[in-house]
Amino acid sequence: MRRQSKILIDHQCPQCGAPAVLEETDHLFSCEYCRVKSFLISKDYFRYIIPDSAPGEKDLIYFPYWRFKGCLFSSTPRGIKKRILDISSKSLNSDNFPLSLGLRPQTQRLKFLSPDKKGLFLQPDVSFGDVLGTTTKRFRSSLPGPVFLNSFIGDTISMIYAPFYLQQGEVMDAVLNRVATTAAYGETRLEDYTASDPGWRIKFIPALCPACGWDIDGCRDSLAFTCHNCNSMWLQSKDRFIPLEFATMPYSQNNMLYLPFYRIETDISGLDLKSASDLIRLANLPRMVQDSCRKQKFYFWTPAFKIRPKELLGFATGLTLSQPQEDWHKDPPGQKTHPVTLSASDAAGLTKVVLADFLRPVSLLHNLRQIKIMPRQYLLVYLPFDSRGNELYQQHYRMRLNRNVLNYAAYL
Ligand SMILES: [Zn+2]
Ligand SMILES: [Zn+2]
Repeated sequence: MRRQSKILIDHQCPQCGAPAVLEETDHLFSCEYCRVKSFLISKDYFRYIIPDSAPGEKDLIYFPYWRFKGCLFSSTPRGIKKRILDISSKSLNSDNFPLSLGLRPQTQRLKFLSPDKKGLFLQPDVSFGDVLGTTTKRFRSSLPGPVFLNSFIGDTISMIYAPFYLQQGEVMDAVLNRVATTAAYGETRLEDYTASDPGWRIKFIPALCPACGWDIDGCRDSLAFTCHNCNSMWLQSKDRFIPLEFATMPYSQNNMLYLPFYRIETDISGLDLKSASDLIRLANLPRMVQDSCRKQKFYFWTPAFKIRPKELLGFATGLTLSQPQEDWHKDPPGQKTHPVTLSASDAAGLTKVVLADFLRPVSLLHNLRQIKIMPRQYLLVYLPFDSRGNELYQQHYRMRLNRNVLNYAAYL
């Protein structure tokens, strides 16, 4: 397993055929030539192949690897530990192929897998959950004391097929044209493997509002899109578009940047956390429980954009402890906004980390595994940030952020 950086994908515009280079985090494709915008859609994860440089007519074998990037949050008695993961790992048990992709995805542009690609595609037999479980176990020993919870918040999860071929019983790397691994265990016989057509292709669909058919607005890595015609917002989830309720914290000052946050209504079992007064008790906050708190419904809050794990959790816990109560406007902000780049399911995954972050006393953390948090409803709330040079500042909730950190959100 080795660390990798962002990968690039060669593709053609589905409308005019012009060549385009995509990034693995892209969700909306705008063609530079014909200006047509399309969504990139898959029912689960994206699948790529690494182009081969094999000499002559070789029978190519494509071996599958999981690739994932993101942050592993672990709850320990000394607080939440964060670890960036950037990994490729075999998705098929075999000693005859390399353990990881190494640097291949960085040195070469990938292509989307497509059904017309010829070759023998080996069938994965290791689930993404298995790989994550193994990885988590490996890091376990470096953490102090018991680990109450592990939660992986993914930036990207995909499958990459790497090309190989056989030469005198040896597996050859079809990118570098040399023996693939010196750790090979005996002769490689293809009869030992199951091959199957992955039957997958990337889908491009026109970027139009699902309600009124108008052109939709969004950035290349946006997961939520605004229609300015019918004033609606849509959240992409796998191959579906879900209407998203949204609100804005009004602010009279100009030149603000509005950052999106999720307010998440949840059903919680195994813990009595329904109101603001429950929160005051469970987080041991130095506040008086007033009658109004008992009636005030509890919500989790998380950023709806990718940002370093430190700020992601810091803002989520800070806002959740604040329980913002405002007269939200039902309109999108009239000013500059930052795109929604964190999925609703990742935000939901973060809620338990937030709980582990504020739950007191620490002895309560032993019950974390019994506590279930189910998201019920999301409200997207735009909060205004004042820009002062390179710094962004949210006065009301005292959130501070360097603009460079926001622009360079390679992780997460
Ligand atoms: Zn085009
Ligand atoms: Zn519309």
